[in-house]
Amino acid sequence: MDALVIGAGPNGLTAAATLARHGWEVLVLEAKPRPGGALYSEALTLPGYLHDVGAAFFPFADDSPAFRSLDLPGVGLQWANARRESCHPAPDGTSVAISRDIDETARSFGVDGPAWRWLAEWKRGMGSRLAEALLAPIPALAPAWRLGIRNILRLSLLGLRSTGEFSRRMFQSEAARRVVPGLALHGDLGLDDFAGTGMGLVLALMAASSGFRVPLGGAKAVTQALIHRLEEAKGKVRLGERVARILVRQGRAVGVVTERGEEIAARRAVLADVGPPSLFLSMLGERETTWWLRSQIRRFRYAWGTFKVDWALSGPVPWLSEEARESAVVHAGDSLADLDYFTRQVRSGQLPDNPYLVIGQQSLVDPSRAPAGHHTLWAYSHVPSALEGGWQRHREAFADRIETRLEGLAPGFRRLIRARHLAAPDDLEAMDENLVGGDLGSGSAKFDQQLIFRPAFPYFRYRTPVKGLYLCSASIHPGPGVHGSCGYNAAVTAIADET
Ligand SMILES: Cc1cc2nc3c(=O)[nH]c(=O)nc-3n(C[C@H](O)[C@H](O)[C@H](O)COP(=O)(O)OP(=O)(O)OC[C@H]3O[C@@H](n4cnc5c(N)ncnc54)[C@H](O)[C@@H]3O)c2cc1C
Repeated sequence: MDALVIGAGPNGLTAAATLARHGWEVLVLEAKPRPGGALYSEALTLPGYLHDVGAAFFPFADDSPAFRSLDLPGVGLQWANARRESCHPAPDGTSVAISRDIDETARSFGVDGPAWRWLAEWKRGMGSRLAEALLAPIPALAPAWRLGIRNILRLSLLGLRSTGEFSRRMFQSEAARRVVPGLALHGDLGLDDFAGTGMGLVLALMAASSGFRVPLGGAKAVTQALIHRLEEAKGKVRLGERVARILVRQGRAVGVVTERGEEIAARRAVLADVGPPSLFLSMLGERETTWWLRSQIRRFRYAWGTFKVDWALSGPVPWLSEEARESAVVHAGDSLADLDYFTRQVRSGQLPDNPYLVIGQQSLVDPSRAPAGHHTLWAYSHVPSALEGGWQRHREAFADRIETRLEGLAPGFRRLIRARHLAAPDDLEAMDENLVGGDLGSGSAKFDQQLIFRPAFPYFRYRTPVKGLYLCSASIHPGPGVHGSCGYNAAVTAIADET
């Protein structure tokens, strides 16, 4: 083999497909019996219902240079959008929703319509140059130059603020104020966190342009399209093959040893779609890394855990908010105070009383996910990774608490439930060992673990202290989300190092 890729998540598969299309002989070794990592779909509840096990909505579907280079629609991947992208209702009846139509969103934002219009028109002016700059390896000089100094300054000035400060300055109504903080809470970014606005604002702007896209046939259709591109370039995936160690000779990665003891050689490179502690503290020996790197990686922080519920429903969710009935994603978070209270509870290790929720309605867009007239619903909240007595004792009661919140926003919801499937933090980690403690972000999204600090300075450009060994998971810049960029950037770096 020219290259071995450890892990068949979206980043591992993107890296492998990129190398294979460059003419390298590539083998992907995946620990689990199925590919995809957190990008897959299964009939988790009842036959006939298809649920996404992790990622479900893809704002970078079109704009990611990695996915563009692989032309996934060219192998049959189809994306679809809901009428509205992101709705933010509250039980008091107030609601705002982002759609791709600026006028429609401005109407929804009411008194804050002009402020929204300013933001959305700014994004329209940047087009796909925004994603290109955000997803490129840093320093991203050429993409930043194309984006323009004014846009970069504005992004920095807004993005470095906490979401609380940004929202209070930008919007007047409580409904509009909860939008960006609600989106930043996809990661572990609370109201007062420095630079929390970066993530929330980018998600809001992407919702307004590409939208929170849904792949027809489930998230696994994206994984299958990546594998298609890999295999047509003669690359291979071997499932059920966990890598235990990297083989290093004279400072260079020359292969791997699997958990079953098989040695597999790599002539040119090894790319690891794994967590930094796993790569630097377990797969490599002490002599193969540096003291500095090991001490930094011991301090690498995973974010809080995730609790996920999937439901099989006998009809669409009867949201009080008309906008929510047409939205791909709905966010439950009543006010800035509610989001702040939630954050404080999770940070102090408590189960949240009123769980903030990211709720996905894939079957509104893709009827193939459920029997005719029926629907799926996908939702997650953030939670402490571990609880006293273990998650097993708390999971059913916590899922009931989530349903109570949904019932408040959509009276009659409970009557539609045919079955539910729960995944606590330890279940998510058992499904995919990169989801350490149930962290869906492959490491905290806080500022001190972003950009040149992800996963540790100065190893933010995919290379490691071992020649020919590259980190390509979402634990490195540009971080979590399904855009394939960590894998793509690592593969391009490996190719450049060989030429
Ligand atoms: C509940 C949830 C919801 C999410 N929602 C979204 C969303 O809507 N939109 C979005 O863009 N993103 C979302 N994400 C985040 C997104 O799924 C991740 O950022 C993305 O999957 C990271 O890709 P990856 O390739 O780095 O790692 P992963 O997808 O975690 O894949 C890593 C793979 O490596 C394998 N592996 C690890 N160690 C080894 C080893 N030693 N040997 C062999 N194989 C190994 C694992 O088994 C796994 O298959 C969500 C994640 C979760 C969990």
